[in-house]
Amino acid sequence: MSLQAFTKEYMAQHAAYFEEVSRFIFHHPETRFEEYESAKYLADQCEAHGFIVERGVGGIETAFTATYGEGHPVIGFLGEFDALPELSQEPGSTEEKRWDRHIGHGCGHNLLGTGAFAAACAAKAYMEAHDLPGTVKFFGCPGEEGGSGKTFMVREGVFDGTDLALTWHPSPSNSIMSVSTLANIQVFYRFKGVPSHAANSPHLGRSALDAVELMNSGVQYLREHMPDQARIHYAITNTGGFAPNVVQANAEVLYLIRDVTTERVMALFERVNKVAQGAALMTETDVTFEIDKACSNYIPNRALERILYDSLTEIGIEPPTEDEKRYAQGIFESMSEAEQKDYLGVMKGFGYVGDGSEFAGKYVSDSISPYEIPTEILTASTDVSDVSWIMPTAQLSTSTSALGTPLHTWQMTSQGISSNAHKGMLRAGASMALTALKIFENTDLLAPIRDEFTAFSQENPYTCPIPEDVKPSPLSK
Ligand SMILES: [Zn+2]
Repeated sequence: MSLQAFTKEYMAQHAAYFEEVSRFIFHHPETRFEEYESAKYLADQCEAHGFIVERGVGGIETAFTATYGEGHPVIGFLGEFDALPELSQEPGSTEEKRWDRHIGHGCGHNLLGTGAFAAACAAKAYMEAHDLPGTVKFFGCPGEEGGSGKTFMVREGVFDGTDLALTWHPSPSNSIMSVSTLANIQVFYRFKGVPSHAANSPHLGRSALDAVELMNSGVQYLREHMPDQARIHYAITNTGGFAPNVVQANAEVLYLIRDVTTERVMALFERVNKVAQGAALMTETDVTFEIDKACSNYIPNRALERILYDSLTEIGIEPPTEDEKRYAQGIFESMSEAEQKDYLGVMKGFGYVGDGSEFAGKYVSDSISPYEIPTEILTASTDVSDVSWIMPTAQLSTSTSALGTPLHTWQMTSQGISSNAHKGMLRAGASMALTALKIFENTDLLAPIRDEFTAFSQENPYTCPIPEDVKPSPLSK
């Protein structure tokens, strides 16, 4: 049996099981670094499949590895499973219906983790049956959403010894995710002032909240004078209390600073620091900062992407059913006119190439985008990037949602365990497994992958953007 036939058949035979795994994670949504149930469940599944599981790797409770086989090549599959606050939603609905729990899988990571796990299982099954040398490694990667979990794992050496990494992301598009992404750093700024009675002795008070407001104003002016692709966002995480008649002595604002490289992020970070110092000077308060997390920009490996693209094409697409088409239409129609108009914009972020003409009259993709080396950059960030700096990495996307569905929306959560989503998940799993098996069977394929990676890394040595003393921080911190 060909590798292609084997992987397709493996996924078909085990579809019900993997769908169950995805459903479990969907129904136990947990936010970054607190994915206790999801991580335990997924690690238990790996163990039940005969992988050697190591839990709590890199000093992160919810990170784990699952290993099968011996020697090189060591091929890693990266699986995420964290969810998002405020994005609970009844699955399968075409209107916004929140569940009582507030956390939900608005980025499809229940599918992501399960698809990567399915790929590892399929690769293992074939290697076992054919006595193939090499190692399959599934990485249970927590805290992708705002946590840069993989960047911490890279810093702690969790990926050391792995030859290459494969992963994917749910989206409306079947394509290779070849676009680079923005590096970022997330920093808390804490202002400390002097409390006083706001009416009785205002001259004695020094307001930390004023300092936060002035810092935000200063950064608004800075925005006009930054590079085009740079982005700065903020959230006020402590306003200093609820009493207007007390001068707020403590206030905190969290900044997320992005640009095309870590070097440029650090330069922009320095400028934001100056604004913070200026705000402190104006208000006679003190300011300190604490780095929360950071990640690098993504470095695609074209040689590995080409194999992954061929594999996706060989696995192909089962046409959507009438029910799936109807549901996709309902979801599409629930989006705003602006979102509908920009549906290709969302898909281009996932590597879609084209003018959308093949989607005329359709609401869900039933085709594979051509693979072209992109000229643009995706103005978002991912912690897969740090893995891509230390080993050849490739990512694909498969259509698990209606055309144009933006990530981090109730529509994304709603489609999280739909039959179309599960088909896409298994398509991604099969494509990654097939890619890995081609390399296990013919290790000559590794040479161009490695050459490309070495050429890049010799010119661009990696430095982890997260300082040694920074620890992963859960949302509830
Ligand atoms: Zn995501």
